[in-house]
Amino acid sequence: MKGGIDRPLQVTIALGGNAIVRPGADGSAVQSARVRATARELVHLIEEGDRILITHGNGPQVGDILVQNEAAKNLVPQMPLDVCGAESQGMIGYMLQQALQGELGAKGIAMPVVTVLTQVLVDSTDPAFRRPTKPVGPFYSLKESSRLSREKGWVMVEDSGRGYRRVVPSPQPREIVESETVAKLFRGGAIVIAAGGGGIPVVRTRGGGLHGVEAVLDKDRTAALLATTMKTKVLLILTDVDGVYLNYPGPRRQKLEVLDVEACERHLREGQFPPGSMGPKIESAVSFLKAGGERVVIASLEEAVEALAGRAGTTITF
Ligand code: ADP
Ligand code: MG
Repeated sequence: MKGGIDRPLQVTIALGGNAIVRPGADGSAVQSARVRATARELVHLIEEGDRILITHGNGPQVGDILVQNEAAKNLVPQMPLDVCGAESQGMIGYMLQQALQGELGAKGIAMPVVTVLTQVLVDSTDPAFRRPTKPVGPFYSLKESSRLSREKGWVMVEDSGRGYRRVVPSPQPREIVESETVAKLFRGGAIVIAAGGGGIPVVRTRGGGLHGVEAVLDKDRTAALLATTMKTKVLLILTDVDGVYLNYPGPRRQKLEVLDVEACERHLREGQFPPGSMGPKIESAVSFLKAGGERVVIASLEEAVEALAGRAGTTITF
């Protein structure tokens, strides 16, 4: 496989949190500097001739929005979680879109860039709704936490000695509501940013309409669904580690250059990939490949070009 990759490729790219903000850094100026660096890497792929469809995480940003909501609750109405998710898609999409336009312009490449506010259908009977697991928003005292569970019905959990946090369900993404629009824009030649933060979770109402739900979606799972729906051959997951390891992060850790579905499933069973970080990436890789995808690459943002050529990161095939 090495060196023998057919270009150009159609690639769905899942950007991890570090593509937008470095841990510990805050403020929009710092975010936009980071986003510009990300845009430079992505435009290298465009220069290779690849067509890219981008999705991204939103954990820190939606967390900030929830803190703002909480702090200003006596001044302005608090927004529900689906609306906060939509806000974060707009905010991150805007930053990425502008940074990509700037970088493309500087290279003299004429290519439209567009962000699509994306809803993702979930099943109202998904077992995740009975067992909320994802902590979101600010930390609360025990007293406030009890009040919130009483008044709002929130499920609160103690979070590693730092206080109490709300936990919400993380159901499976089932269908990308705006998929036809995304497909038209992508096939029409645009760089599309879609389903940010895993998408805004919605359920179908009895009347056939859509309704936002208080949940969050996993961005790696939605990235696999997006790649499958858009039939891109490749799913590229860019994160802050240079590939998939065994025995991570111990002294005997070993980087895997290639993996197949069977090995992924075996290592998942053996607990090599934790549920909050590498686990969902490997599960998503497996589901994309089983649905007919050709190749998944997991790599660090800085090595995107090399990784797609099979010279860096971890390549997963069926
Ligand atoms: P992202 O925002 O990109 O989704 P995550 O923190 O969710 O980032 O996932 C990437 C992290 O997964 C890495 O920083 C690394 O610490 C962790 N990780 C856990 N297990 C492994 C493993 N087996 N191989 C590589 N990285 C792993
Ligand atoms: Mg993650």
